[in-house]
Amino acid sequence: MPGEPTPHDVVVIGGGPGGYAAALYGAAAGLDVALIEKDKVGGTCLHRGCVPAKEFLETAAVWRTTAGASDFGISTGVPGMDFAVSQARKASVVDTMFKGLSGLLKGRKVTLLSGTGRLRPDRVVEVVDGEDAGTLLQGGAVILATGSVPRTLPSLEVDGRLVVTSDEFLDLSSLPSSAAVVGGGAIGCEFASMLSDLGVEVTIVEGLGTILAGCDADVTNAVARSFKKRKITMITSAKVTGHRPQDGGTSTKLEIEGQEPIEVEMVVVSVGRRPLTEGLLADETGVNIDQGGFVVADGMMRSSAEGVYAVGDVVAGTPQLAHVGFAEAIVAIKDILGEPATPVDYSRVPWAIYCHPEVAFAGLTEAQALEQGFEVMIKKDPFGGNSRARIIGETEGMVKVIAEKSADGSGGRILGVHMVGPWVTEQLGAGYLAVNWEATASEVAEFIQPHPSLSETFGETMLALAGRGLHVG
Ligand SMILES: Cc1cc2nc3c(=O)[nH]c(=O)nc-3n(C[C@H](O)[C@H](O)[C@H](O)COP(=O)(O)OP(=O)(O)OC[C@H]3O[C@@H](n4cnc5c(N)ncnc54)[C@H](O)[C@@H]3O)c2cc1C
Repeated sequence: MPGEPTPHDVVVIGGGPGGYAAALYGAAAGLDVALIEKDKVGGTCLHRGCVPAKEFLETAAVWRTTAGASDFGISTGVPGMDFAVSQARKASVVDTMFKGLSGLLKGRKVTLLSGTGRLRPDRVVEVVDGEDAGTLLQGGAVILATGSVPRTLPSLEVDGRLVVTSDEFLDLSSLPSSAAVVGGGAIGCEFASMLSDLGVEVTIVEGLGTILAGCDADVTNAVARSFKKRKITMITSAKVTGHRPQDGGTSTKLEIEGQEPIEVEMVVVSVGRRPLTEGLLADETGVNIDQGGFVVADGMMRSSAEGVYAVGDVVAGTPQLAHVGFAEAIVAIKDILGEPATPVDYSRVPWAIYCHPEVAFAGLTEAQALEQGFEVMIKKDPFGGNSRARIIGETEGMVKVIAEKSADGSGGRILGVHMVGPWVTEQLGAGYLAVNWEATASEVAEFIQPHPSLSETFGETMLALAGRGLHVG
């Protein structure tokens, strides 16, 4: 029989980026934290998301570099692929990070419990299964960080072989020769790009009118142009209605309304993620859940129940990004500590998409800025004119900056920075700072960029916005 609940300053349910960041940050502030995880700490991000996906995209980058080595006078022959080796490397990267994270939590004296956490009224949490089943905890505060799982389509039943989600896809031991990626958002485009680089014939089927619908139109067009050049077929404004397995189950025909079906060896469903809140709340916890199953939280990440917070993918109306979970966890812990905290400004968080060419942005797109009534000034500088881009042989893409027009006609406050091209996920930092610092173009233009570097394209765009560019008009 469970006894009295064990008291902790904070009880966190879910050990993904949102949950483990809350545990680590809370423990760093001296709080006594318990963290309940039903699978492995690290969550989707480490085991089924960001890290494994980017590891495979790096495999694709190594392939591209090897395939293009002769341009530099280096002979390598046609690259071959042993996907099992790539899988093993991915597993080793993930495992090293997992051990590091587990060690960090232990080092900070976070009490780690194994099992499924369920919130009862008055911040009591019960572990309902797993190794620690039956344990009761009393949180001074409770943080819900149970994350999300892949959404599926009723017409496409996931069987882990012909039809997979990102979960199964990242565990494949070999690659198909052809694949349809259903959903052309960030994850779908990353998968399509990686598969195509590794020699798979890829079709993206997207319901909306464009791939990467949330990005600035110039960025979307640049990626679409590049995909087309690499023979990735993109079918947009398309509705998938089902699939019919063929040839004893080695391939399937994907049915699309109003179109000929396409035969592929694998369908990768990438149509977003739903929150994981089933069974999380006992009756009368007072936590408000919206119609989609997300937890409703305010700027301080407080749910509608006193002392119960929510962070990460499970929170309603926020971008499902690991670093957003980190930021929210910090806000929640500061609020628990009674310290002033700044709510996360979701309209200005950094976005990074690791397809080839890469995409990174922060702030408003051109369309959003115009919709919001800003009088804008826009400058774009293509990487084609950047010497480092020429040196590395990656000249696709550009930097586009959207600024508010100031009285003298030059670019004032920077509203959005959008990048597509080589290593832009690593270059966004300066753009993110500019947008969030509410810097003006002339302020940023004062800063020197090293030469030759890819970041000169960002600097050049700012100079041009400030009134006079060196290379950009
Ligand atoms: C293929 C893919 C690629 C991605 N790439 C990126 C990227 O490049 N950059 C980026 O920022 N984001 C990326 N994401 C999104 C990112 O993974 C998520 O935003 C992030 O993992 C969310 O963190 P979280 O802590 O909210 O939830 P999760 O990471 O989902 O973690 C939730 C944890 O809670 C546990 N849990 C759930 N319910 C309970 C319960 N009742 N009791 C105990 N434990 C429970 C789960 O087992 C899980 O470990 C990607 C996602 C996918 C699928």
